[in-house]
Amino acid sequence: MKYANLFKIEYESDDFRLIRKLNLINLFFIIEILIFSTFTFINFFKLHDYTIATFDFVSAIVFVAAFLDLRFNKSFNRSKWITTVSLVGFLILFAQTNQNDSFGLIWTVIAPVVIITLHGHNEGLKLSVIYALLLLTSALIGVGEWQHGDWNYVSFTRLSIGLIVVVIVAYLGERSIDKFQQSLHELSVTDYLTRLYNRRKIDELLLLEIKNSKRYHTPLSVIILDIDFFKQINDQYGHLVGDKVLIELAQFLRKEIRDTDYIGRWGGEEFIIINPHTSEKDAFMFAQRLRLHIEMHSFETVKNLTCSFGVCEYSQTNNTMYKIISCADSALYKAKELGRNGVFSFQVD
Ligand code: GH3
Ligand code: MG
Ligand code: MG
Repeated sequence: MKYANLFKIEYESDDFRLIRKLNLINLFFIIEILIFSTFTFINFFKLHDYTIATFDFVSAIVFVAAFLDLRFNKSFNRSKWITTVSLVGFLILFAQTNQNDSFGLIWTVIAPVVIITLHGHNEGLKLSVIYALLLLTSALIGVGEWQHGDWNYVSFTRLSIGLIVVVIVAYLGERSIDKFQQSLHELSVTDYLTRLYNRRKIDELLLLEIKNSKRYHTPLSVIILDIDFFKQINDQYGHLVGDKVLIELAQFLRKEIRDTDYIGRWGGEEFIIINPHTSEKDAFMFAQRLRLHIEMHSFETVKNLTCSFGVCEYSQTNNTMYKIISCADSALYKAKELGRNGVFSFQVD
């Protein structure tokens, strides 16, 4: 392990927030190791309090183990709970023993920020409320006793309000980051016009389904469909109506496919459907049904519309994303050649 990497967890993911959380836990463990090992020395050699020194030493060892576990196993869940339980446990115990001597209770407001950051806004809020209730109950019991008898109801109210404000601010902050991240993610996978998956997301899904198909030996088919004579629609009614046709057809297609299928916009007026667990024969029948439904449907914009379909099944010949797409594309071209408003597929080898 290189010294330079001590404060950084190497983690293969594009979820930058998860990496941030892992690094926060990593930092927390390092700080705990430093604190407990320092106190082990102070209590052992200076204060000769061997009970406390033993407690500090055991705590330091526990955090070294947690640190190594995080480094090598990278289990976010386990590390998150070790951090939460140890932080909450420590701060509640600390409050009981310190009793706001030298303003020590200021440390207690750290917990909600860490908890909400690690557990997300929903679970984090619930845990923070439990923590605040535990802490404030003991602070209420301590009125008249803590701070050498100076801890009163005003001090208690100040601590309560401070803690509540920290919980609310941390909660709202985390919630808005969650929402922002979600809308960013949706933007990155959605086609702006039709709201279907965009090409990037379809590529990702198809690669995943190819992997599943290879591993579990299940069939997988792809359908590409293209609106017939779409250029004429644009020429006759204008581009804006053309756009509306694309939106209407996208909504129609979304309703027609099964929950387990994926649909995306492949290009201008071309759409792609991924059918996991579906053979070429079944995908062909599905495309025929779709073709007929489109032909019979009365669209608000242009009333009648037809599409041509190319079908291809993942096989020994068409065993990569590029090959299966080219095969479906050639089949679509063939369907156009044969007069449009039809379905074509090459036989599986
Ligand atoms: P074919 O039956 O052979 O498919 O004929 P076609 O007219 O549909 O095919 P072609 O490829 O010649 O024309 C596709 C047209 O789709 C051309 C392009 O202007 C139009 N188009 C592509 N994207 C959009 C879009 O986002 N909105 C609109 N309104 N038109 C689009
Ligand atoms: Mg077309
Ligand atoms: Mg086209």
